Amino acid sequence: MAYEGERAAMVEAVAAREDIDDSTRAAMQAVPRHEFVPEGKREAAYEDTPLPIGEGQTISAPHMVAIMTDLLELSAGEAVLEIGTGCGYHAAVTAEVVGPENVYSVEYHDRLAERARETLSRVGYGDVSVRAGDGKQGWREHAPYDRAYLTCAATDFPDAVAKQVRSGGILLSPIGDGRQVLVRAHKRPDGSLDRERHGGVRFVPLQ
Ligand code: SAH
Repeated sequence: MAYEGERAAMVEAVAAREDIDDSTRAAMQAVPRHEFVPEGKREAAYEDTPLPIGEGQTISAPHMVAIMTDLLELSAGEAVLEIGTGCGYHAAVTAEVVGPENVYSVEYHDRLAERARETLSRVGYGDVSVRAGDGKQGWREHAPYDRAYLTCAATDFPDAVAKQVRSGGILLSPIGDGRQVLVRAHKRPDGSLDRERHGGVRFVPLQ
């Protein structure tokens, strides 16, 4: 398969720097990142760097996808809400762990949502659900979710998204204006969030 060697080298390089789970590693090894980036950027698809995907948006660097996948502590069968589908790459990595039919992703830009849907289908993740719309509202029809994450920076977890996660579930998002911190929160039975900070990050802002 195309780029197999490059992909293995990329996963090794990420695993050498970050202490990532075997399931995350296997997921990163399985998803053909070059299929998700614009054609002119394929040669760079296995460098550990963000890349432009159109509409002024970027696909996150592979190490960031790996870190987020680990922090979500995903297991097969869990329902996951993603805000910010972008090109669909991160959704595909999540789908490798939980199963494509359990992934629901919302993208603000119609064209990106449409392209992500096409790519996901072409590459074998056609059961991932993608909706064009405002992710601040979450996706109520499929709630409750075991996990929810944002791939764009919010000033805080959107209320609707936090509501749609079950008690005991996990939320993850870059939080902040300008300077951002990756924040993971466990939802307590009373609905409040128990937050932990996981370092400085840089994401595009939530619209
Ligand atoms: N996970 C993506 C990275 C996407 S970058 C990937 O693997 O490619 C962040 C994305 O969040 C952008 O595509 C942007 O359009 C989207 N976004 C920004 N604000 C949003 C909102 N309010 N609702 C849904 N998506 C949003």
